[in-house]
Amino acid sequence: MLQESTATRPAPAVPLVFRRPSRTGGPDHTISVDVADLTPTGCSCAAGQRGLVCWASLDLAASTQLRDLAIARWEAAHGVAELTSAAAVYGKVIKNRLRAIAELERRQQRIEAQRFGLTDLGRDMVARIRAWDWLGITPSAAPEPTAPVSVAVAA
Ligand SMILES: [Zn+2]
Repeated sequence: MLQESTATRPAPAVPLVFRRPSRTGGPDHTISVDVADLTPTGCSCAAGQRGLVCWASLDLAASTQLRDLAIARWEAAHGVAELTSAAAVYGKVIKNRLRAIAELERRQQRIEAQRFGLTDLGRDMVARIRAWDWLGITPSAAPEPTAPVSVAVAA
């Protein structure tokens, strides 16, 4: 018979902190992470101090570091309550990771658009080419770039 664990683990006294070196020679980004749900909550950099999500926080969320911690917690969990809680944290970490990857991609596209002076149409074309690349579609088989894109959504 399965017994549900009623023991709760005390939160570690030391906050979870990760570092990323500055890209501009400034101080390192010191990223605070919520110990309970492994979500980045802030950064020591100028953007972080203004409540903005900096590239380093996104980089951490997009990396496998928090995912690996979530997996380790799940593997160490005992009983239904702990397993359920650990699985919920893992799910949140994966959602955060996907959102961070998408945001990093958007930011990279904006940087490239500014660098090359792309118009809105050019940015759209770059996004489509990346989507085709991600989907494994060769450009000759890809739909016309000016054709409207329709997406079938399963009910
Ligand atoms: Zn930062």
